[in-house]
Amino acid sequence: MQAGDMMEVLQQRLMEVQSRIERAAKKSGRSSQDITLLAVSKTVDNATVAQAYDLGIRDFGENRVQEFASKIHSLPQARWHIIGRLQTNKVKDVVGRAFLIHSVDRWSLAQEIDKRGQYMEVPVPVLLQVNISGEESKTGLQADEVENFLQSVGELNSLKVMGFMTIAVLSSEPEESRPIFQELVALKNKLGRKNFTNVELKYLSMGMSQDYEIAIEEGANIVRIGSALFI
Ligand SMILES: *Cc1c(COP(=O)(O)O)cnc(C)c1O
Repeated sequence: MQAGDMMEVLQQRLMEVQSRIERAAKKSGRSSQDITLLAVSKTVDNATVAQAYDLGIRDFGENRVQEFASKIHSLPQARWHIIGRLQTNKVKDVVGRAFLIHSVDRWSLAQEIDKRGQYMEVPVPVLLQVNISGEESKTGLQADEVENFLQSVGELNSLKVMGFMTIAVLSSEPEESRPIFQELVALKNKLGRKNFTNVELKYLSMGMSQDYEIAIEEGANIVRIGSALFI
């Protein structure tokens, strides 16, 4: 395909996604302004990312640090998020550059991020990845570990927990994701009533191409969308 045709396809897909976001937001009594569309660009090149930016997308997500580093270099004016499992030895390439790290799933990682944040003298906003679906293949904290984790975050200096992220089930039936999203919302509501230092439960990052409308209906304010946008 020619670059111009590609852009047209992307624009059509973006309009479709945006109108679905709007509809789902209305259903949950919100406006689409309250929802961040995070375009997951892991399958596309820098030129496509630049087109997406030109069409108005401002937030991009990558799950590999090397790809993150090269894409951020090509489009530094966008907000770049890390959404995949983060190895401790890659933390230095992410802190100070990522707008938000969605995938803090263990205490040793939180400590490493905090250490780097202190060294660079920057606050580091993160989400805790919670494994609600209970699938062993999925990383993330178990729901019953989250409260203790939030307590411990008070000992850190740079790391700030801004909410939770979850990946629902991979299934042909998107409705199967709904109870998982509801559980994460319930956890946020329950823990949001308590006072933790370095914690502000503001974001819920949940919903992907196949189930983002359901996630928004249940309260997501960041949806991570790859294949519904990019070919
Ligand atoms: C790839 C990926 C997505 C996007 O998935 P799609 O089904 O293509 O929308 C969202 N979140 C994470 C963590 C991913 O790795």
